[in-house]
Formats: sequence, structure tokens, C-alpha cells
Amino acid sequence: INMQKTILITGGAGFIGSHVVRLMVKKYTDYRIVNLDALTYAGNLENLKDIDNRDNYIFEKGDITDEQAMVRLFEKYRFDGVIHLAAESHVDRSIADPLAFIRTNIVGTVNLLNAARQLWKGDHAGKRFYHISTDEVYGSLGETGLFTETTPYDPRSPYSASKASSDHLVRAYYHTYGLPVVVSNCSNNYGPNQFPEKLIPLVINNIKNGKSIPVYGKGENIRDWLYVEDHARAIDLIYHEGKLGETYNIGGINEWQNIKLIRKMCEVMDRKLGHTPGTSEKLITYVTDRAGHDMRYAIDSSKLMQELDWAPSLQFEEGIEKTIDWYLANQGWMDRIVSGEYEKYYQKQYQGR
Ligand code: NAD
Repeated sequence: INMQKTILITGGAGFIGSHVVRLMVKKYTDYRIVNLDALTYAGNLENLKDIDNRDNYIFEKGDITDEQAMVRLFEKYRFDGVIHLAAESHVDRSIADPLAFIRTNIVGTVNLLNAARQLWKGDHAGKRFYHISTDEVYGSLGETGLFTETTPYDPRSPYSASKASSDHLVRAYYHTYGLPVVVSNCSNNYGPNQFPEKLIPLVINNIKNGKSIPVYGKGENIRDWLYVEDHARAIDLIYHEGKLGETYNIGGINEWQNIKLIRKMCEVMDRKLGHTPGTSEKLITYVTDRAGHDMRYAIDSSKLMQELDWAPSLQFEEGIEKTIDWYLANQGWMDRIVSGEYEKYYQKQYQGR
């Protein structure tokens, strides 16, 4: 086939990245999609087994913290564009080991920026470097208000501080070197293939196994949730139509207090598993709050909705049913993950609960 463009997607074996790779490989058959992933504990090629034999898809195992390897990769494929999702992504792990987050999220991002600069040498026609980030860079909200694209950065965890730093560096490369960049900041994602250290798959897995459901503090923290395929659609749109140098916020218009979300999931799980209503709720166990736990995140995505005509496609009630169905139908995926290294980490994090 005559490939029009070669696009690098980093972190494509992870949760969001795998949905982005699948969408791009299927939708743009004239693009060559190169998925670069270090396959850390969070990367899993099983997430992409349905598309891995397509002839416009290539997997490259590699680490973005390896500067020379990144230069070689860019030379080898001569990328037209980059969609950068590779990151250390879990707040609790960043509290335990901040440096891993500095290396991958900050140094790794700069390695990619430098490799793109070196390859493109100021010839930016048709080129684009798209950096995927989080709304956590904006800090924490009180009971009202929304994060907008102009909300000042106020990151409070090593994770969000490392992502904030990488966002600033990406924008600095736009202003300093004219690198054609675009950035988006998204709220919490949920859906198939999410590593079970994150709230929603953790709750599903624990209910399934009759294990207690650890809830931080009083469970009062509020998060906005977006179905992962809606995020992937936004990424496709922003990659192709977003204005250079701009930032787009992405959210689900779907705020939930953690404890209410968990109760809702208990209700759905009882129904799906044929349990008496109220069975799963008994598993809820309050545990010591996460250090520096941000109270509320909520995001205003009106810029994306108005400029690029995007909207979330699913209501949460529908999205959570779909998600729970996927995890129940893919128990093997979960079992293969919930063993070995992750099991040790889990025991340490929740003291064997
Ligand atoms: P994830 O942890 O599921 O996946 C991360 C992927 O990056 C994994 O496949 C991992 O192997 C890979 N990776 C990690 N370090 C690497 C390195 N040094 N070199 C190459 N690959 C490496 O994360 P996710 O939840 O899919 O998040 C993807 C991106 O989206 C991240 O940048 C994250 O900050 C951002 N984001 C996530 C959410 C969310 O709710 N999950 C929300 C907003 C933004």
C-alpha cells in the first residue's frame, strides 16, 4: 500500500493508547501507525491482539527515556506526526517513587521533542507533535467552578507535577523552536483494558472476587469520568483539526463523588452477578486517605465542543454497564494481570485488605 503518512503513537499498549491505536489503524488505512511502548507493568499487547496483523500497524518495543534510541527510531520511520501518550500514570505509584515519573514523563517527553526537532529541522509542513495530558495539572477545585484552558497550573502530586512539567516543555518548544505542537488535558477515563490499580476496574475485580473495596478517606472526592473511546475520538479530532500551539480540555460532563460512583457500581454488579441487592456494598472498606488527595476535578470542554464539534457519546449509566460487561466477559485478561508484580504492589498499597 502507498502509505501517505507515518504516525508514531507512544504508550499504545496501555489503556488509552490501545484505544487510540485501534481507532487510527482501522480508520486511516493509508497511514502507517507505529506503536512505541516499553511494555512496563501497565503495557499489555493483548490489548491490541485484534489489530496486530494489519499491514498498516507496526509495534516497536522501546523506552522514551533512551535518548539515542528515540533519535534512531525517528530516523528509521521519518514520522510525520507524533501522538504522545506514554507515561507513568498512577498517582499512588508517584507518591511511592517520584523519580520514575520524572524520568518517563519529563525526560522522556523532552527526548521525543528533541528527536522530532532533529528530524524535521524546521520544515514543519504537515507535521504535528500532539501531547496527551491530564486535568490534574490544574490542581483541586472547591464545590463549584470548572477547569478551563486558562486555569493556572497548580499540580499537587508527583504525577500531576511531572505531567504539568511536560506540558510546559511542549509549549516551550512551540514558542522557542516553532515546533508544531498541540496539547489536550482530559479528565478520568474509564472503559475496557484499564489496569486494575485504577478505581473502576479495581472495584469490579474486587466485587467479582468477594474482596473488600478500599475507599480513600470518606469517599467524598469528586471526579469527572469520560468513556475511553470518547477520549480516543477527541484525540483523533484534535490531532487532525486542532489549532497549532493550542490546548483543548476534554471531559465527560459527568461528575461523581467516589462513594456514590462505587455504590452505583455495586448496584449494577449485584444485578449482573445475580446477587441480592446490597451484597456488594458490604465490601466497602474505608482506608487512610491518599496523601494530598485533590478534592474535586471538573472540566469545561466547551472549546473542544464548539471549535471541533466533539461531544461525549455515552451517558455514564450506559458507559458503566458496557464497561462492567467487558470486564466480566474478559476475566482471563484480568486474571493474567492480577498476578505477580501487581499483586505485590496491591498488598503493600492496601496493607493486605
Ligand atoms: P497507562 O499506564 O495505562 O499506559 C501507559 C503506557 O505507557 C503503558 O503501555 C506503558 O508500557 C507505556 N510506558 C510507560 N513508560 C514508558 C517509557 N518510559 N517508554 C515507553 N513507554 C512507556 O496510562 P493511560 O491511563 O493509558 O494514560 C495514557 C496517557 O494519558 C498518559 O500520558 C496519561 O497521563 C494521560 N491521561 C490519562 C488519564 C486517565 O484517566 N487514565 C486521563 C487523562 C490523561
